Amino acid sequence: MNTIDEKLQPILAEVTRRNAGEPEFHQAVHEVLESLGRVVAKHPQYLDLALIERICEPERQIIFRIPWVDDKGRVQINRGFRVQFNSALGPYKGGMRFHPSVNVGIIKFLGFEQTFKNALTGMPIGGGKGGSDFDPKGKSDGEIMRFCQSLMTELHRHLGEQTDVPAGDIGVGGREIGYMFGQYKRLNNRYEAGVFTGKALAYGGSRARTEATGYGNTYFVQAMLATKKTAFEGKRVVVSGSGNVAIYTIEKVQSFGGKVISCSDSSGHVVDEAGIDLGLLKEIKDVRRERISEYARRRGAGVHFIPADKGSVWDVPCQVAMPSATQNELSGKDARALVKNGVMAVGEGANMPCTPEAVKVFQEAGVLFAPGKAANAGGVATSALEMQQNASRDSWTFEQTEARLATIMRNIHDTCHQTAEEYGAPGDYVLGANIAGFVRVAEAMRMLGVI
Ligand code: GLU
Repeated sequence: MNTIDEKLQPILAEVTRRNAGEPEFHQAVHEVLESLGRVVAKHPQYLDLALIERICEPERQIIFRIPWVDDKGRVQINRGFRVQFNSALGPYKGGMRFHPSVNVGIIKFLGFEQTFKNALTGMPIGGGKGGSDFDPKGKSDGEIMRFCQSLMTELHRHLGEQTDVPAGDIGVGGREIGYMFGQYKRLNNRYEAGVFTGKALAYGGSRARTEATGYGNTYFVQAMLATKKTAFEGKRVVVSGSGNVAIYTIEKVQSFGGKVISCSDSSGHVVDEAGIDLGLLKEIKDVRRERISEYARRRGAGVHFIPADKGSVWDVPCQVAMPSATQNELSGKDARALVKNGVMAVGEGANMPCTPEAVKVFQEAGVLFAPGKAANAGGVATSALEMQQNASRDSWTFEQTEARLATIMRNIHDTCHQTAEEYGAPGDYVLGANIAGFVRVAEAMRMLGVI
């Protein structure tokens, strides 16, 4: 990791003390504090340690029990979380994640990142995140529904379209959002469509929301490539993951003329030199919810499946890498392999998928590197567009919505680019994103008094 300005060291010490045993949260705070050294040097009025410390401390953390009955009639217990991180810019906004790795530290790191990401979109949304250690793998539809209903039986009292607006994340898609919103509506006796985003079109969802994170990351990387007078056309691209973010990244990259050679899931990765067949991938992962090895089996000769213990998706040579699976999935070693194989741009579709060491390797090698809090902001930005449509009881066309998304992504790119230049680190998108996001949140908080 890089160093933190000594004036800011006490904040990291305090965050570490207060949040013992939460390494992902420390990692996320560390990275932002590293960037802030340049801010306090240039604008001493930001050397307000109490303000920075407040930005690192969630406004509210809710932890609750989720009892539910499985198909065999047994009672199961999971733990639910909602971290309402910062509401200076608007209602708390951020997804729900269902995955066995979820704990309060993971949700805190995601809520912290979300606060800056949401600020970068320029939309009126604060930051929050939630989830559960529930594992959706292998669960029946009825079990998923009963779990979502039980979760919402507690969480509903903490939400509201002006208070806290959840959406999806890993393990939470349209089906889960439907069950959660259904239970919220029942408990509140109000049709408050804007309390959830990522809804299906049938009950107040937005067109292009499903595609938005992957499309947005692709637009961001396109803008970065343009600064070097190049484009996706003809480039070899590797996208990790095969969920919603990965699928729509692949779709957009292909439409820009890039060739996606590889994608993955937690069991391993596939290499398809002819280019990933998106229709087949969607059928296997989206419809049938099968493992990625099935892709290689169905596609036949020439397509290989490499199990996770036999090799990494990052060993596949490419010019553009778009990690779209989960946090810390791309290590320093992976980054060195990518650099050796000639990678020129990396766009984080997931939240914090590259370790600090990996980011350093990329930046030192002069690789264009887009941090998730900027590059994957298209999902939450389109959530804000969904809230806007709900508030005006309107529904926009796909083209209209995607055009807004494209503009927002270009603006985020330009903001990060210009901010990095202004602070003496041209091309450093990590610094640009952290500083621009921080300044927006800090400015609003200063105006709101000590709250
Ligand atoms: N989970 C997504 C993210 O990490 C989307 C959040 C939202 O739409 O509220 O940004």
